[in-house]
Amino acid sequence: MTTERTIRYSVPGVGMFATTERTWPHGKVMVQNADGRWLPKGHVNLFSVQHNGRTIGGKRVRGVVTDHQCDAACLNAKGHLCECSCGGANHGAGVAVTVGA
Ligand SMILES: [Zn+2]
Repeated sequence: MTTERTIRYSVPGVGMFATTERTWPHGKVMVQNADGRWLPKGHVNLFSVQHNGRTIGGKRVRGVVTDHQCDAACLNAKGHLCECSCGGANHGAGVAVTVGA
């Protein structure tokens, strides 16, 4: 059995993407790239987008839990760093393009 969870990547100048991370019991982890391919964690283009003929790498959303109440600014965020009460759970979810959907 594998476990799956939704993770988000911010791609500078392109936007926010929601994709799936799949983990196997023995520890293998793969992430679905913007083009639909599954790539192993550590792959140089683990999450990247083709944009105007270039490959642009995404930055995984990282959360730092603070006292700031999570709000619409977090839900609609485009950057990769979340600093509010949700710790990254909601960051960019309102604007993210879902990969593979
Ligand atoms: Zn938040």
